Amino acid sequence: MIHFTMEEELVIKSLREFVENEVKPAVPEIEKTNEVPRKLWDRCVELGFIGVCFPEEYGGMGMRSIMDKIVLEEISKECPALALSIDAHHLCTRSIMMLGSKAQKNEYLSKLVYGEIVGASAATDPTGSGIYAETKPIGKFTENGIQLNCNKVFITNSSFADIFVVIGMIDGNYCQILVDRNTEGLICGGSMVDHKMGMHGSGTGTVRLTNVTVPMSRLLVPDEFDPKSAFQFCGCYLDISAIALGLSEGAYAKSVEFLSSRMRNGKVMAGMPVIARNLALMKSKIEMMRSMVWNTTEVFEESPNPMLIHATKAMVTEMACDVSELAIKIHGGAGYMEETGVARYHRDAICCTIGENPTDVHLEQVALQLGLPVEAQAMFPVCGDPYAR
Ligand SMILES: Cc1cc2nc3c(=O)[nH]c(=O)nc-3n(C[C@H](O)[C@H](O)[C@H](O)COP(=O)(O)OP(=O)(O)OC[C@H]3O[C@@H](n4cnc5c(N)ncnc54)[C@H](O)[C@@H]3O)c2cc1C
Repeated sequence: MIHFTMEEELVIKSLREFVENEVKPAVPEIEKTNEVPRKLWDRCVELGFIGVCFPEEYGGMGMRSIMDKIVLEEISKECPALALSIDAHHLCTRSIMMLGSKAQKNEYLSKLVYGEIVGASAATDPTGSGIYAETKPIGKFTENGIQLNCNKVFITNSSFADIFVVIGMIDGNYCQILVDRNTEGLICGGSMVDHKMGMHGSGTGTVRLTNVTVPMSRLLVPDEFDPKSAFQFCGCYLDISAIALGLSEGAYAKSVEFLSSRMRNGKVMAGMPVIARNLALMKSKIEMMRSMVWNTTEVFEESPNPMLIHATKAMVTEMACDVSELAIKIHGGAGYMEETGVARYHRDAICCTIGENPTDVHLEQVALQLGLPVEAQAMFPVCGDPYAR
């Protein structure tokens, strides 16, 4: 059981008010236009949700990690795509937080936390994202700095991000490099936004870097290497799990609302044993998901447990698919209609099982952690310098 402080309760209260009063009414338009209005992003910044867990010296609230997950969970109840955008922005911000030098932190962190600039994280290669050990080359070191030549695909926020952390191998070293959007040679996908199944509005697209030259100061290098930092990136698996949890709650709430007013033989359908059982099943799965996300986040804060993190990402996102599919079915024909607004949760849930590495990859990592004789390598080095291969 997690106890929230009074300060945390206040953040949760303002989050819920923001989601109910500002996010929920905007969703039909977002689904239609495939764009999250910038004013929603600005409000997230203004209310402190973007920087809730970043240190106060960089403009954040300095709260514990669970609060990041709560932000994503609450927003995902109505708009998982907005939560995914925040997640991608956090990936960029965390790269700087964990791997940046003091000078790099001073230069970028406050701007990202105050939302003056939007970040994105570009890791996925067109030939497959794979695991850490399979990361692809992205360029070379030259006497003028770093020359980047690579394509990155399915990049969240690519249609509006101001800065990208480009991730890949250079001369056999695992590198994360900051590249501004307006750098010569960087082009964001032809039509800017990919036409995709769900997560409408999260600005997914291709980022192409052709002979992009940036100074060496753009390579993220910590002043002092902390062996835990490489593994900290696994925190992103808990972010996407929190999104999966939130959208399941959204799908469940819609189902309860619908079945509590729909009548059959003079009685509300929510009272029919088979329907009540399905609602109970959905709610039980949601509580299992919450236990996994919250517990693993708390454990992660103390000492990362790879098995638990991979298992959480795999199970929670798959359960979100189950819950959101059942939500469609128990709405009957209405569930299949876009106007009802329940089908979109299922589309978004499927994205959660694929993004930040698919379920099979995470289960393979669980098997590896269990010591089973699988031919696989750890997704991230648990300790050791990520720049040394
Ligand atoms: C909406 C959306 C937003 C995204 N945002 C970002 C972003 O912001 N930044 C970014 O870098 N990427 C992003 N991605 C990319 C995403 O992380 C990758 O698509 C995902 O990790 C899968 O990689 P892949 O597409 O290369 O598939 P592949 O790695 O080619 O995998 C294809 C299939 O093979 C299976 N498979 C692959 N490897 C293994 C293995 N080792 N063991 C068992 N099975 C395996 C997988 O289960 C999968 O079903 C986004 C994707 C989507 C859909």
